[in-house]
Amino acid sequence: MFSKLVGNRNIKKTLRHLVENGRVPNSLLFAGPDGVGKRQFALELARSFVCTSKDEVEACGVCAACRRAEVFVFPTSEKGEDYDRVFFSEHPDVGSVIPFRRNVRINAIRDLEKEANFRPYEADARFFIVDDAEKMADPAANALLKTLEEPAATSYIFLITSRADSLLPTIRSRCQILRFAPIEVHEIEKYLVGERAFTPAEAALAARLARGSIGRAISIDVDEFKAVRTQLIEVVRSAIATGDIATMLKASDSMADPKKKEAFEPALEILESLIHDVWTIAIGGAPSRMVNQDVGPELADLAEQCQPSDLARWLTDIQTLRENLAVNINRRVATDGLFASMAA
Ligand SMILES: [Zn+2]
Repeated sequence: MFSKLVGNRNIKKTLRHLVENGRVPNSLLFAGPDGVGKRQFALELARSFVCTSKDEVEACGVCAACRRAEVFVFPTSEKGEDYDRVFFSEHPDVGSVIPFRRNVRINAIRDLEKEANFRPYEADARFFIVDDAEKMADPAANALLKTLEEPAATSYIFLITSRADSLLPTIRSRCQILRFAPIEVHEIEKYLVGERAFTPAEAALAARLARGSIGRAISIDVDEFKAVRTQLIEVVRSAIATGDIATMLKASDSMADPKKKEAFEPALEILESLIHDVWTIAIGGAPSRMVNQDVGPELADLAEQCQPSDLARWLTDIQTLRENLAVNINRRVATDGLFASMAA
């Protein structure tokens, strides 16, 4: 049921309308940021066709066809050839093509082309979801274009992308585009409490950190986040108030720990959000714009002692550091440099 999906209410409305009037186009492009549920929407649309006990518009979500249509087993192999085909769910009319590393392989698209010409097995139509469609190189995209131009009446192709601009214009122009928006904080919060057993306090924090993405919200470890944040609040406090260099160097050590490489950029983001929040308070911005509302009083205390122009400079420094990460800088040296500049 579309109502089970989180956010993007207007897209639900559009889809219901298309289904109700029998006007679902054979090719649809689900475009928008990562983690907002584009694939779930596409799958739900397919289910509204294959469901064997649907009401006028919506899939029931519980019949055998509905349940089978959402069960996919994708390969985890490191061999490209293993990705050269359509992977069908347990429903033989609902399939998906996925990329291998950075590419949706042309042979996978050729298999899709072949399958899209077959009559449906069980349902009245067949559905093909192409994940990360922007990962089709031109030959694959051109192969798909042929299928989009001459679609079998009973085949539907749903392209999923977070980078619609990277698709060939000829592909885009063949598809009706559904543009997904980031999901609102309160909707993510509700979902985390209702469906993922987050406590209200955890959900409130994770939802604000998620920047509109359910996927990101789910992956946040709130306890781990708080531990790192506590240390970084001390960094900001040292820079603004106490001038405690030792604390900053200790934080730099733990941030740039080579054993926790993947934690470096998230930590940088947390530091950025803290500085931004202090700045927001200092300039009298709306508290609702703060990410770290749960430590608001602590940050307000720092805001009273800071120079907003310093904070703006630190944010620029962080941005520069992040750009330099691309050229493989020494994280430890760079972080020491950043903290030294903040303490100056
Ligand atoms: Zn059903």
